Amino acid sequence: MSTDKLPTREENFSEWYNQIVLRAEMADYAPIRGCMVARPYGWALWENMQQALDRRFKETGHVNAAFPLFIPMSFLEKEKEHIEGFSPELAVVTHGGGSKLEEPLVVRPTSETIIGYMYAKWIKSYRDLPILINQWGSVVRWEMRTRLFLRTLEFYWQEGHTAHATAEEAQEETLRMLGVYADFVINDVAVPVIQGVKSESEKFAGAVQSTTIEAMMGDRRALQAGTSHFMGQNFARAFDIQFLDWNNQLQHAWTTSWGLSWRVIGAMIMTHGDNQGLVLPPKLAPFQVVIVPIFRDDNEKSAVLPVVERVSAELKGVGCRIRVDDREEVTPGFKFNDWEMRGVPLRIEIGPKDVQKNSVALARRDIPGKPGKSFISQEGLASQVMEMLNTIQGSMLERATTFRDSHIHEPAGYADLTEIVKDGWAYTRWCGDAECEAKVKEDTKATIRCLPLEQPEADGVCIQCGKPAANWAYFARAY
Ligand SMILES: [Zn+2]
Repeated sequence: MSTDKLPTREENFSEWYNQIVLRAEMADYAPIRGCMVARPYGWALWENMQQALDRRFKETGHVNAAFPLFIPMSFLEKEKEHIEGFSPELAVVTHGGGSKLEEPLVVRPTSETIIGYMYAKWIKSYRDLPILINQWGSVVRWEMRTRLFLRTLEFYWQEGHTAHATAEEAQEETLRMLGVYADFVINDVAVPVIQGVKSESEKFAGAVQSTTIEAMMGDRRALQAGTSHFMGQNFARAFDIQFLDWNNQLQHAWTTSWGLSWRVIGAMIMTHGDNQGLVLPPKLAPFQVVIVPIFRDDNEKSAVLPVVERVSAELKGVGCRIRVDDREEVTPGFKFNDWEMRGVPLRIEIGPKDVQKNSVALARRDIPGKPGKSFISQEGLASQVMEMLNTIQGSMLERATTFRDSHIHEPAGYADLTEIVKDGWAYTRWCGDAECEAKVKEDTKATIRCLPLEQPEADGVCIQCGKPAANWAYFARAY
């Protein structure tokens, strides 16, 4: 761990973020521009996220499969908007086994096309529908400006691809999965999100409608944390995904896709982290509890260690993810800082006095210093610790929600909007015109994050042009 002081969030948010990722050993820069290595601690967090999501996918009837990393270039060209949207970001393989390929292969930037091709082969009749498949893996998008976890050439994610017999079913699926993402990010990542629809200019290349969950980071910028798309029959037409319906008529299927990547780890860091380092929500933290034994000599050591062992066994017994830091070459103070940097939600200190009093000391990561410290009896310790972890999870979400809500404002007019988006989100009416959207972006760098699913009834006028506007939208600068 570096001994230099971490830059503060206030003085340089972006450098603070990079340093946390590096110092907590979440990730490191790879020797390829724009690529990163997920280190074991960062990968463990991602594994916990995968499990939490995978459980939800299976509960909603989905199954996993694996499709190839390579996609023939001609596949991408079959859907006009899709290739237009993705062509600037493609990595293309032209040679294999020492000779030039007949057709270049694209390293998948997303898998609608190859999965669409397979669905055309597998779907014959309405009885074959719906198909609800998810894939865990990585994709490549040749980004120019990259950031650890937030935007890298290769990133890990999951992509769900479904095919349905009716538009209604596909639309339901799109919103169902958006809801699954929202549930995961709110309740497990402890990051509040707004569910909404993307404007035409911000939607996925090839989609009829894109929906999103948007979160506010610690620097008040927005981050798109997951998206779910209704494709209509666009990909079904491009790939001939057809089925015989109930009346023996041939019809194109209706498809969806939805994806969430490890950029959510970036969202987690930028929402909860503080000037001491990471703050991880207990539900996803690789270690929920770290136990630090405290002793000065062999006498104290022989009194303390058996208690540490007993407490650790008790916590493991209730399924708590714990780590005992029994390193003898570093001081307890060093260990405290080290685990604070790594964001472990709860620290248990056990020293000779605690052994005598039959108690342990607890220190909450989300409330630094004295206010977050308490002592509990060793009797019934496991249940008290688990309850404390729940409390931490809840209060992290509460704090993030209060922060977000205090930085969302309804502008009184256009000039007011340009001020608000410098340091927050503007919630206001928009006429739906792409020109108004572009003007706001040009003037303020803020984009329409989404049109929230929940729309107030009241009619009004567009914040930019003054024409009648039916929709409310969030405007913000975004990652
Ligand atoms: Zn307008």
